Amino acid sequence: MKRSVYYKKYKKDYKMLKYILFIVCVILILLFIVKSFNNNNLDIPLNNVAAFKLSSDNVIKIEEMSKKYNIDFYELLTYYAIENNFFNEKNLDISNIEQEFIINYDNIKSKYNKKRVEPYYNLIKNIIEEIEVFPISLDYSNNYIYGDSYGAERTYGGKRIHMGTDIMDKENISGRIPIISMTNGVVENIGWNEKGGYRVGIKSKSGNYYYYAHLDRFEEGMKKGKEILAGDIIGYMGNTGYSKIEGTKGNFEVHLHLGIEVETTLTKDELWINPYPFLSLIENRQKNSK
Ligand SMILES: [Zn+2]
Repeated sequence: MKRSVYYKKYKKDYKMLKYILFIVCVILILLFIVKSFNNNNLDIPLNNVAAFKLSSDNVIKIEEMSKKYNIDFYELLTYYAIENNFFNEKNLDISNIEQEFIINYDNIKSKYNKKRVEPYYNLIKNIIEEIEVFPISLDYSNNYIYGDSYGAERTYGGKRIHMGTDIMDKENISGRIPIISMTNGVVENIGWNEKGGYRVGIKSKSGNYYYYAHLDRFEEGMKKGKEILAGDIIGYMGNTGYSKIEGTKGNFEVHLHLGIEVETTLTKDELWINPYPFLSLIENRQKNSK
């Protein structure tokens, strides 16, 4: 009798152990599936995506390659950006793109889940496609200067980083350089804000938001809800802002602050992307087509 009680108990424990092992295995398998789903190097920090750095020469080279090898340009640019951490490493050597990247292109692509690449692809494609003109007519190309100032420190209104590109008037004369809309869209915001001074915000069809700040004044007839075409004058370069008092001028040099806030499924928060690569690309294209 005693023996059979022990046996029963042992059998019960053994059953329990089997059950626990089964649960552990299921958990491990689930963890493995989740990990392999995530493990396609697409855990790029969003601030790297936002700080997107690429010279127009490099974009043009990528475009050349896309034509030569019959690859969709935006797709090539997207995978190249993903593989290179959105070009945040210094000294990107693009001269080896054919020998190192194009030759392995199918392998590189197969590493990533296509669905997860899509938001990056859309982000890049929407901006490049919808920007039709540089925000300043090339007739004024001797009057302005700009560089990549995204991420530089700003102190007005608390410590923060610069989330745009500044295009400076070389002679610091407020009100002389017309600012034109880079895209089609609708005026979503217009008027005074403390940091941006007189600013215009234009929403494009893709949902991206183009922000033009520190204007000396607006073009006549500009108002909220107005439909804008790429190339329309929206205002004039100035130095307004950095004050709660509307109309304050001269707290800094005359320049256009240009920001691009992208509509993306990558985040629910605002994502202000570096406009510099896109500005220099469109400027180059316009200069070359002249
Ligand atoms: Zn700025």
